Amino acid sequence: MTTDTIVALSTPPGVAALAVIRLSGPESRAIIGQLVTAKVDGTPGHATYRTLAHQGKTLDDAVLTFWQTPHSYTGEDTVEISCHGNPHIVENILQACLALGARAARPGEFTQRAFLNDKLSLTQAEGLLDLLYAPTERALASARAMKEGRLAHALENVRAELIDLLSHLEASLDFAEEGIEPRVGPEFSARIESVREKIDRLIRTAPLGRILQEGALTVIVGEPNVGKSSLLNALLREDRAIVAPTPGTTRDLIEAPCNVRGLPLRLIDTAGQRDSTDPVEVEGNRRARALLPNAQLLLHVVEAHQPYAATKIELPGNIPCLLIANKSDLGRHASLPSNAIFLSALKGEGLKELEAKIEAALLADAADETETVLTINARQNATLQRAAESLGRALEALRGDLGLELVSVELRDALRDLAEVIGETDNEDILTRLFQNFCIGK
Ligand code: GDP
Repeated sequence: MTTDTIVALSTPPGVAALAVIRLSGPESRAIIGQLVTAKVDGTPGHATYRTLAHQGKTLDDAVLTFWQTPHSYTGEDTVEISCHGNPHIVENILQACLALGARAARPGEFTQRAFLNDKLSLTQAEGLLDLLYAPTERALASARAMKEGRLAHALENVRAELIDLLSHLEASLDFAEEGIEPRVGPEFSARIESVREKIDRLIRTAPLGRILQEGALTVIVGEPNVGKSSLLNALLREDRAIVAPTPGTTRDLIEAPCNVRGLPLRLIDTAGQRDSTDPVEVEGNRRARALLPNAQLLLHVVEAHQPYAATKIELPGNIPCLLIANKSDLGRHASLPSNAIFLSALKGEGLKELEAKIEAALLADAADETETVLTINARQNATLQRAAESLGRALEALRGDLGLELVSVELRDALRDLAEVIGETDNEDILTRLFQNFCIGK
């Protein structure tokens, strides 16, 4: 299908011990053949050490590994060149390959070819992208499950069941044409219900999927000097924010990626909410307030040894919020609500308990997470929602006796959506967007 040969650096640019350049396409062996100073037999899977030269100039000593179509990552003839990680060497080898007829690969083009050559499905390609960017172990496990094709497999089963239901329905409709009353009993509805439940179970993993991919926006709020910056530093286990006894030290927002029990957080320390005339602090307060409605978790810090007073900050009621009673080393005031989590950010006491509470709060919406590490992304979620809605309408049509044709239309729509999730429909837009997110050389 593809006729040209592409080349790109597959490791990060810059100085390194090694760099790997990948060539893929029908001419990749011929191109390498013209660069080596001594013959290579190119046995697939074997690595050969050779000197590369072009137009009389030595390029580098490199290890060449050959793969033969269709048993390569892309499904095409591929050569991997492991050379020294000097940017001039890399550039010279790339230029030589281009001069000999290769073309510079676009971002994600190797993976796109793998997809076009049926080496991996769309959801597997998505899993691969997530694997490259996974910020924590948990995100990595979820990406690996997607890359291994677990979603595609789960959806294949759902699809087979839907096709079976549809053929049953079509047979009933054929009978109707022959004057026999079409029949689909309660068992038929129950089977549709069960398919919908399977899809719903996948849909319920979407909030966790979003957290694993993007990080949960977690905002620390509270009065000045209660220990918000100390909490951020404690969770990060580093001195990221300045901690000082003078109120109003943090005036702007500080954002730091953080890993809490494998869940990636975008942790934000806000300026203490107090009346101030300092323009920087006023702006910091405005930014903090603007951020609150988008947060996925709020950490409301108060002082454990002081009488509890409701905060001046207006916290959105629809976002989970943990009340953290910091400075517990100075005492625990009786007026604190029973749900307060005691912490001494200074001494690190109560940090583990707090992390467990953060995890529980973020996973509250997620499906039974112990059951599966597989989570779906926003694209898959949107399309599966449509499929679930179609099945809901099919069930309504059955309940209301609205005609089996209508049921058939809804089942077909659901099937089309499932095919779209797996990537069987020609959707240029989805493919272009996905592969653009890869880096060059992947
Ligand atoms: P922020 O203004 O809310 O960000 O508060 P900071 O993190 O800057 O802390 C204000 C002051 O409280 C500093 O002097 C910290 O050393 C102190 N502090 C923070 N956490 C604790 C704690 O757990 N125990 C005690 N005793 N002091 C703390």
